[in-house]
Amino acid sequence: MIRERKRIALECDIAVIGGGPAGIAAAVCAARSGKKVMLVEQNAYLGGALATGLSPLSFLDKKGRPCIGGFAQDFIDRLVENNWSLGTEICPKHNSATCINSEGVKLQAFRMCKEAGVHVLLHCQVLNAEMENDTLKSVTFLGKCNEINVRAGIYIDCTGDGDLAYLAGCSYEKGQPGSGVLQPPTVMFTLENVDQERFFDYIAKHPGELRYNDTRIYENPAYDIEHFRQHRSHVFVGLQETFARHKAAGTLPVERTSFIYINGTNPGEVYVNSIRMINTDATDIMDLSRAEMEGALQIPALVKLLKEDVPGFENCFVSAIAPSIGVRETRRFRGLRRVTETDALNGIVPPDTICLCGYKIDIHSGNDNGLFFRDIEDVFGIPFGALVSAEVSNLMFAGRCISSDAVAFGALRVIPCCMAMGHAAAVGAGLSLDRHVPLREADVSEIRRRLSEEHAVLSMRETK
Ligand SMILES: Cc1cc2nc3c(=O)[nH]c(=O)nc-3n(C[C@H](O)[C@H](O)[C@H](O)COP(=O)(O)OP(=O)(O)OC[C@H]3O[C@@H](n4cnc5c(N)ncnc54)[C@H](O)[C@@H]3O)c2cc1C
Repeated sequence: MIRERKRIALECDIAVIGGGPAGIAAAVCAARSGKKVMLVEQNAYLGGALATGLSPLSFLDKKGRPCIGGFAQDFIDRLVENNWSLGTEICPKHNSATCINSEGVKLQAFRMCKEAGVHVLLHCQVLNAEMENDTLKSVTFLGKCNEINVRAGIYIDCTGDGDLAYLAGCSYEKGQPGSGVLQPPTVMFTLENVDQERFFDYIAKHPGELRYNDTRIYENPAYDIEHFRQHRSHVFVGLQETFARHKAAGTLPVERTSFIYINGTNPGEVYVNSIRMINTDATDIMDLSRAEMEGALQIPALVKLLKEDVPGFENCFVSAIAPSIGVRETRRFRGLRRVTETDALNGIVPPDTICLCGYKIDIHSGNDNGLFFRDIEDVFGIPFGALVSAEVSNLMFAGRCISSDAVAFGALRVIPCCMAMGHAAAVGAGLSLDRHVPLREADVSEIRRRLSEEHAVLSMRETK
């Protein structure tokens, strides 16, 4: 006899879909304010791309001033207390780096959700969005032969790809203007037993390994070997000569001109961000499956190259492959407001700003081995309306699917900014429910007041 799926009906005030940096922030902050919150995640763990060992970039702006506070800083402080983060240090290339431990992130996220009383549902994917006119009535999830129907007052889409907004019929943009080319996804992996001192000695004797032939990459002389020696929280981008040599010989297994590792919290441990799956749309299940497999299968060849050719890596070994490919870019949805290249390059901080972004424009090419890196002098602001759907009355976005153009996206996609958006979405959603006011008519000055009370940074004038 064929069995029916088990049907479960649940209700909450705020449903957060996707448990990456934005979703964790949104769920915990909403629950802390007394709301009944559900966080639904397709994986067995929380953290999204942050749980692959990436270092949140640009907690500090170009001048070294904190431009992110609130929940995001709280999350890092808790990681540091548990020795799961090396804390934030200045970086001449990325403004600042905050190295973390991938497993610590997962544990910390579970802990904070539990403490705040978030109802976490794992192993569940969005299946359907049930609409009535312009209102999202409920969302159905599928998990282990269960169909779970969740009714909420407000839904916050933190899936990165905006899967809920997509199913709800919202309009979106994808990729670079004209070409639609998407930044490529990357399979992250962890190496252990790296002899960093030996590696640094090699780099010191071969400065060309830190010199860029690609003029599109922003170069900073202070990003030198002394920087890596003096700052444990660092992201290494280099080995240009080694990669160029292998490219010329036809033995480079990856589509990149440089090697990137993020320092781990344990001695000899680094997280490698050097696989690049070009011509991939991670919302296409065929592309996604291919990228997961082919990306993972590039790892042995890259590790062989490092072991044989790069001093310090002779005895390294792969201790983990990230459980999910890291997706840089897919859909960006239509909001009441849209963050643009002009805003980012001119440091526009509008009066309805709910968080700041101090990072640079950082666009990995999706169809070759290039990288577009452009400095921005001043932070820019993300307006509340960029988190509010222009089409569905009770739907918000936080994280990489918010309303922006492809260039501004190159900056605002960083983890601290995504967490700050999640925090702001939670405050905005809570206020809208408390006051029975539609999101579109939310009192943004009151949202900003509450965010300030919760130590969010909304203007650099407040920062010494
Ligand atoms: C390879 C790579 C390197 C990067 N390097 C850096 C860096 O060094 N520093 C930095 O600050 N930023 C970096 N970024 C950017 C940053 O990691 C992301 O932009 C950020 O994690 C986005 O956060 P998010 O919460 O919006 O989405 P994600 O981190 O993508 O999280 C989305 C979550 O939603 C879940 N989800 C997705 N679809 C569904 C569904 N249908 N149903 C249920 N759950 C779902 C996912 O499993 C995931 O947990 C990098 C990104 C990548 C991919």
